[in-house]
Amino acid sequence: MTGLVNPESIGLTLMHEHLIWDARPSDWRASEPGPEIQLCNCFRINYARLKVPRNFVCRSIEIVSQEVVKMIEAGGRTLVELSCGGLAPDPKGLMQIAQKTGAQIVMGCGYYQDSYQDRANESRSIDSFAEEITSQIVEGAWGTDVRAGIIGEIGCQVPWTALERRVLQGALIAQAETGASVNIHPGRHEDQPQQIAEFVVGNGGRIDRTILSHIDRTIFDVDRLLRLADTGCVIEFDLFGQEQGYYPWANIEPPNDAGRLRLIRALIKRGHLDRVVISHDICQLTRLTCYGGHGYVHIYENVIPLMRERGFSEREIDAILVDNPKRLLTFV
Ligand SMILES: [Zn+2]
Repeated sequence: MTGLVNPESIGLTLMHEHLIWDARPSDWRASEPGPEIQLCNCFRINYARLKVPRNFVCRSIEIVSQEVVKMIEAGGRTLVELSCGGLAPDPKGLMQIAQKTGAQIVMGCGYYQDSYQDRANESRSIDSFAEEITSQIVEGAWGTDVRAGIIGEIGCQVPWTALERRVLQGALIAQAETGASVNIHPGRHEDQPQQIAEFVVGNGGRIDRTILSHIDRTIFDVDRLLRLADTGCVIEFDLFGQEQGYYPWANIEPPNDAGRLRLIRALIKRGHLDRVVISHDICQLTRLTCYGGHGYVHIYENVIPLMRERGFSEREIDAILVDNPKRLLTFV
C-alpha cells in the first residue's frame, strides 16, 4: 500500500478482504438504507429477513482501523483488499488505514461483476482493459499514485457475460505483463470455477497464479473440488466466520468453518497444500466485531486453534497463511 513490500516480511496474510467498500447490488443503490444495525436485529439481518442496504457499505476509516488493529494484536500482518472497480475502491483510504494500523495492505484492481460496472465499459476492448489494469499496477489506480499489488477480484457470473470475459482476458494480459496474480470471483454455479480455470489456460494465463474465490459457496463435493485443483489453480475458502447453514443468495448448503477445514484436508491429501488460501471476505458491516460479527481477527483467534485441534500441522498452517500468500503476492 505504502510501496513495495519485501516478500520476507509478509507474515500471516488474509487473501480476500474488503476494508472500504460499497457492495450493494446495482438495483439496491437507489433504495432506502434500511434500519440502523443493532443487537436486536443483527441476526435477522444476517438471515436476510430484513433488507438493509446500509449493511453492504462501509466508508469509515475509523471503524475499519479499529477492526484491523484487533487483527494485528492477534498476530495478523497483511491483508489483501479486493474492492476493485464496481465496489467503490478508495486507495487513499486504504493508505490511511495502513498508516494508522501498521497493517500491510495489498490492493486489488480491475473490475467486479458486469452489473456493478460503469456502463461505459460495455464498449471497451480487451486491450483497453489490459492497459488500464497494467497501469493500475505499474503507475497507480483510480486516479491516484497508489499501485495495486494483485489483480481482482475479477467478477464473473452465470450466465457469464461478454463484458466479464473481456475484462478477464484483459486481466490475463496484464498478468503476463506485470507478473501479478489474478483473483477471480466465480458465479454461483458448481461448474463455473472449472469453466473459468479452463478459460484461463486457454487464454494463456498463469493458472498457478490464478486464485478462484468463494469456493466454499460454490463447490460442495470433493470430486469436483479435486478436479478443479488438478488444473493447477489456487483454491480460496474465503467465507470463514460464516457459520450458518442458510445462504441468502442461492439455494445451497454452505459449510461451517469445520466443514471448510474438512474440504481443505481433502485437498492436502491429494497433494494440493500449495494451492490453498483462506480469508473472511468481509463485505457486510454485520461481520465486523463492532456490529456483532467475527471481524478480521477470527481466523487468528478461532480458526488457527481449530486447525490445530483438527490435526493441522504448523507447517500446513504456515503454508496456507504465509507461504502460499508470499508466493502469490510476489511479482514474477
Ligand atoms: Zn467476491
